[in-house]
Amino acid sequence: MASGRRCEIKYQRVERNPSVADATAIAHLAVREKRFGLTLVLAFFDRCGNSDPASSAPGSAGSQFPYTGEPIKKGIVMDKIIRATAADGFIKMAVITARDTVERAREIHNCSPTAAAALGRTLCAASLLGEAMKEENATLTIRVNGGGPIGSVVAVSDSEGYVRGTVGDPSVDPPRRRDGKLNVGAAVGQDGMLTVSRDIGLKEPYIGSTELRSGEIAEDLTAYLLESEQVPSACALGVLVDTDRSIKAAGGFIVQLMPGADEELIGKLEDNIFLMDQLTTILDEDGTDAVFAQVLKGFEYHLVGEAPVGYRCYCSRERVEEALSCIEEKELQEMIDTGETVEVSCQFCDARYAFTHEDLRALLQKESEKN
Ligand SMILES: [Zn+2]
Repeated sequence: MASGRRCEIKYQRVERNPSVADATAIAHLAVREKRFGLTLVLAFFDRCGNSDPASSAPGSAGSQFPYTGEPIKKGIVMDKIIRATAADGFIKMAVITARDTVERAREIHNCSPTAAAALGRTLCAASLLGEAMKEENATLTIRVNGGGPIGSVVAVSDSEGYVRGTVGDPSVDPPRRRDGKLNVGAAVGQDGMLTVSRDIGLKEPYIGSTELRSGEIAEDLTAYLLESEQVPSACALGVLVDTDRSIKAAGGFIVQLMPGADEELIGKLEDNIFLMDQLTTILDEDGTDAVFAQVLKGFEYHLVGEAPVGYRCYCSRERVEEALSCIEEKELQEMIDTGETVEVSCQFCDARYAFTHEDLRALLQKESEKN
């Protein structure tokens, strides 16, 4: 685009039902920011219920899921989640291998190794929890904000485990830890919360949160599962970054204990996890089977399901139009008057949507006919 003005729509997920007025206020702020040469930030309606401007418009059909129709980007099906049960059902375990998913996220956001690890771990966690949801068309969002230089890390999963995510400052890359590992905790910080929001199509999403322990994600997620969902769990998440910064391996597991599991069983499981090799090394060299074999060593276990997962974004030109239509008429008119093409880029993927001043004029026309 020759003289294209570039602006970004940031999909601001609002945890509680925001009114259209809130959205307009956000849009307003955005336009003001743009005038100062900054980023255009618009509210994007990423959940169901009355936060969806279409569903809250007079005469529309009320609560509905925004994610309908074919997603623009299909996930890569090399990645998968595999589930198993062990010890007569007292242990449930899920393993995700997600190299391609995390590599895609790294490419989109141009992540430093530490940012790729922080985002990658959060994506794996969201995928594991999202794929376990029973409700179709549900979404699960994990937001980690520990006050560290990286800002917020956000991962959203659909109910099939397909994820998308974003990170505040993808360039943050603190010095490695003494043990040579990427210092995700230093990038994320420990002064804040991990929040999980499950949107299953009811009026309000289910929201639970826990104070961050280490900012390393897996430990924080384990604390969340115990405190907020009362499920004793063990969790590991890992991203192995190659010397050329590409992702060599990524994945994780969650092991959950069902009520009634005895002490001996718990002790044995703990020992296995303590003694196991580094997760990303196992995934890189031997694959998911070896993860089950090491964590469930000494237990009889059965694989009970397998599902492909990947990176998938649900943005579309229509959804961007929806967001643009929340801008005040006057502001939209000002954008049209410049005669320039506006380019809107998605926060979760590398899709870009160009709107010529004619497109914007048509949008304005459509809006004023509605009102
Ligand atoms: Zn997108």
